[in-house]
Amino acid sequence: MHSETFHLPADTGQADLMDLIAGLNADNRFHGILVQLPLPDQIDEATIIESIAPAKDVDGLHPISQGRMLQGQPTFLPCTPAGVQQVLLRSGYDPAGKHVVIVGRSNIVGKPLAALLMQRNPGGNATVTVCHTRTRDLPDITRQADILVAAMGVPGAVTADMVREGAVVIDVGINRVGYRLVGDVDYDAVAAKAEAITPVPGGIGPMTIALLLSNTLDAARRTVSV
Ligand code: NAP
Repeated sequence: MHSETFHLPADTGQADLMDLIAGLNADNRFHGILVQLPLPDQIDEATIIESIAPAKDVDGLHPISQGRMLQGQPTFLPCTPAGVQQVLLRSGYDPAGKHVVIVGRSNIVGKPLAALLMQRNPGGNATVTVCHTRTRDLPDITRQADILVAAMGVPGAVTADMVREGAVVIDVGINRVGYRLVGDVDYDAVAAKAEAITPVPGGIGPMTIALLLSNTLDAARRTVSV
């Protein structure tokens, strides 16, 4: 795979970014485009994501990709949610029939993960509860999880008292605390109770990258006639 990174100045305007994406959409040397989020305030994130050609949306964030995913149709799956699903499946924790509690409802993690895990497809069939800052009595709900996913962006927010003995815990959070990267889960205390837990760093982060490569390969294959 060949990749190019376009580092733009922080004051880049929306029109310039749209022009760059239009050029990449039309450039058949590239099969995939990823716009690193978040974007500066002067740029509207939704407009930029919609400007990516759906055939090159290897990050799986375009409304067409997410709509197709919601309907259970083949599409590029968003990389972090797809990474969470693969970690579960490949570690022997098929979400089918399990109660999955997701804390966080962003468009890039919580919402698409809920949609993915509730599908009537292999890797889906979970019963999903999504929590957020307006959720009442969060610990009461997280303690009901067979599989608990933390995607809040709050260091150490999931403490041991919020986790049922024997639960599987997926920590999506990546937070910088001083020089260290930490997750959303109080790792040592929760690891003592959980049947399995993903570390930060070295858990869902690398899975996200793996799924991005996989989507890019799929995008390239779709352009090759056999
Ligand atoms: P985000 O857009 O800030 O969303 C955070 C979500 O968590 C929101 O829905 C928010 O609720 C909820 N939340 C925050 N504090 C909470 C609390 N105390 N109790 C209950 N819910 C709470 O963040 P994001 O983009 O989804 O990212 C979440 C974390 O995952 C970050 O640490 C990010 O760096 C990390 N991340 C990692 C990867 C990876 O590759 N591993 C990829 C993407 C993101 P409201 O909606 O009510 O505000």
